[in-house]
Amino acid sequence: MANSEVTFIMIKPDGVQRGLIGDIICRFEKKGFFLKAMKMVQVERSFAEKHYSDLSTKSFFGSLVEYIVSGPVVAMVWQGKGVVATGRKIIGATNPAASEPGTIRGDYCIEVSRNIIHGSDAVESAQKEIALWFPDGIIDWRSANHSWIYEN
Ligand code: GDP
Ligand code: MG
Repeated sequence: MANSEVTFIMIKPDGVQRGLIGDIICRFEKKGFFLKAMKMVQVERSFAEKHYSDLSTKSFFGSLVEYIVSGPVVAMVWQGKGVVATGRKIIGATNPAASEPGTIRGDYCIEVSRNIIHGSDAVESAQKEIALWFPDGIIDWRSANHSWIYEN
């Protein structure tokens, strides 16, 4: 069902350090998406390399991995109709210089190498990332607000 689409969102170490966890969660929550899983964790280098394996040939790969392991991150699963694409819109462009004001990156950061948040880029990559970050599965709960957000 379209309403059950899920995405993987991660607040990166700079977002955690800068006290932006609450604001970021608030934006997804107020939109009407449902939080299905969340944990704070500091990952190993090998785990970060796996998460970003598609970018392993990029010149910035080493510094990207350094950045992700530099402190705790907040890993989340959000659910809702179109949450992958809409989540990317809420986040803004990869380079904060190109992110519109009103987006998370547009409002809170400046450099591409310190862009505070990750969001899956497709339904398939979301499934892969959720399996990597939440190997024990996620709680299948349904919000009592469901029918106030969705007609069906
Ligand atoms: P995203 O899906 O918008 O996060 O962007 P990508 O998947 O293309 O890149 C993953 C992450 O790598 C980005 O969020 C940035 O933190 C980092 N990154 C991307 N491009 C660059 C770059 O040109 N230089 C550096 N230093 N980091 C980059
Ligand atoms: Mg990406």
